[in-house]
Amino acid sequence: MARMMPPAIVILGAGALAAARNIQALYPDSLVHALQGRVQADVAYSELGAHLRDLYARGTPIVALCATGIVIRCVAPLLSNKGAEPPVLAVAEDGSAVVPLLGGLAGVNVMAREIAAALSVSPAITTSGELRFGTCVLNPPEGYALADLGQGKRFVSDLLAGESTRVEGEAPWLDDAQLPRPASARLAIRVTPRAWDGRADELVIHPRSVVAAVTLGDLRESDGARVTSRLPAQAGAAVSRDANAHTRAEEANTEAAARIEARVRACLDVHGLALLSLAALLASTEQMTNTALAEAAARLNVPLRFAPMPADNDNGGSPAHLLHAALRVPYETLHDDRGQGVALALSPLAIDPDTIGRARGRLTVIGLGPGSAELMVPAARTALDEATDILGYDTYVKMAGPLRADQRVHGTDNHEEMQRARHAFELASAGRSVVMVSSGDPGVFAMAAAVLEALDTSDNSAWAAVELSIVPGVSAAMATAAQAGAPLGHDFCMLSLSDNLKPWSIIETRLRHAAQADLVMAFYNPVSRARPWQLDKALDIVREYRAANTQVVLGRDIGRPGGTLRTVTLGELRSVNVDMRTMVIVGSSTTRRFIKGTQWVYTPRWYQ
Ligand code: SAH
Repeated sequence: MARMMPPAIVILGAGALAAARNIQALYPDSLVHALQGRVQADVAYSELGAHLRDLYARGTPIVALCATGIVIRCVAPLLSNKGAEPPVLAVAEDGSAVVPLLGGLAGVNVMAREIAAALSVSPAITTSGELRFGTCVLNPPEGYALADLGQGKRFVSDLLAGESTRVEGEAPWLDDAQLPRPASARLAIRVTPRAWDGRADELVIHPRSVVAAVTLGDLRESDGARVTSRLPAQAGAAVSRDANAHTRAEEANTEAAARIEARVRACLDVHGLALLSLAALLASTEQMTNTALAEAAARLNVPLRFAPMPADNDNGGSPAHLLHAALRVPYETLHDDRGQGVALALSPLAIDPDTIGRARGRLTVIGLGPGSAELMVPAARTALDEATDILGYDTYVKMAGPLRADQRVHGTDNHEEMQRARHAFELASAGRSVVMVSSGDPGVFAMAAAVLEALDTSDNSAWAAVELSIVPGVSAAMATAAQAGAPLGHDFCMLSLSDNLKPWSIIETRLRHAAQADLVMAFYNPVSRARPWQLDKALDIVREYRAANTQVVLGRDIGRPGGTLRTVTLGELRSVNVDMRTMVIVGSSTTRRFIKGTQWVYTPRWYQ
């Protein structure tokens, strides 16, 4: 079972608040989600069905204080994959009934018991195995994995049919279970890192107690290949430079990953160990940027951890030395007899991968889009959910919420961008998962360029080892254009009217050229209190080249509460219509406006 996220405790009205707070006290970091306009709690939502589906899809455990029927109908469209469901419980709003609904394999019955105990009622447990044994033997705690679910189900039905079982190995979580367990029993629950041999009378549970250390020194050149692109989707630039070389590098990388995976699997096989017993893959810190290793760990479905190779080794260091440097628990070393650069550590107990060496730090620069959650790309949401640390201008960090209490927020004043970028690298190079938040798109007058500048001008090799990625977002010009119609339907440019980071003379020259070229222009940072005259000056220049009846779209707080959209002509436009939360799109000579049902503005794709 994965580490349990704190549940979302969801209420519809004030009548449920007291019971919700009681339940909240059981789960550190949990939040009470309340229907907007009806009751106030920690997080507001506007529509129950959409909110529950969103939580469910993200794997968040749900405790809904409302009728079971409502909860079932809300999540019903998502109920196809039994394996992936989070715990879902319905609780009567006065706390008088606790009904586990979904997530039998994710611990829903454990939660039902906990919540019912806190509310002094009996949980409505319906799972037969649970009823009989007081625990779900198919749901081992974190750090343990069931060898085979199908076998598990058969095993439990045998137990339900009246058979008893022995327990072999360390299974502390079964100590309180009401399992009949005479030593003579035919059936056995076996807790072991050894692979299950297919015997029907055994339920095998693997403790994640094996660490595989790998060194790449003895591999052929290509195995250590550093491929410049991180994600296939981001490979665009490299592809256009040399498509073939890039594809070859990717192929070499995939091959190298497959070889590392095969070596680890072979070594486990030789020692009769199950793949599910593997807790982590361990490599030398120098290999942190090796993409083949990362892919191999992903294929093996385990975290990749790093430790510095001890320096006092004549032969460049062996995987056994790495294990020694990284592991803080007692273990036995199992060697790969064929000298393939793999060594296994086998510990008597499950090993928490977070305690082994350290992870490669991550820095992801994301854009939130203009403001509303629907306009944030899913990759940005994922990055936020996975982050340990979140940096950005306070307003944007608030927009990125709700965040979990275990996530550290480092809000700062808007004007300290380089300092914030360096801070992000400091955190990420220490192994943290950092998200840097921008509004709109992070690469449009925002943090991505500052982050890259910080990296470019630093000679800190630990910063270069950070897994850096940039997730695009819906920029204000796109969000505003979409609401107005399609004013960016033909050639356009984006200009920032702020002269904080460039001389005003450059802005004037660009405006003149863009206006002359008949480009549609999207103005970011059009005015601010510190820059009161610049917009009027800019409009004077544009008016030298464009007619007074040119269409202008003004989007203010687009995608945010109270957002407004206006269309005026260039002749009508006054700088008092515009503030720093406004996007100004000045049309070209062909941009037109019409009313059909509603008003639309667009720039045709052609010229006459
Ligand atoms: N990275 C951001 C832009 C940051 S510059 C993006 O891609 O959208 C800040 C400027 O963007 C503001 O002065 C304003 O002109 C514009 N802007 C940002 N969010 C906006 C919104 N929700 N509605 C209208 N304009 C917005």
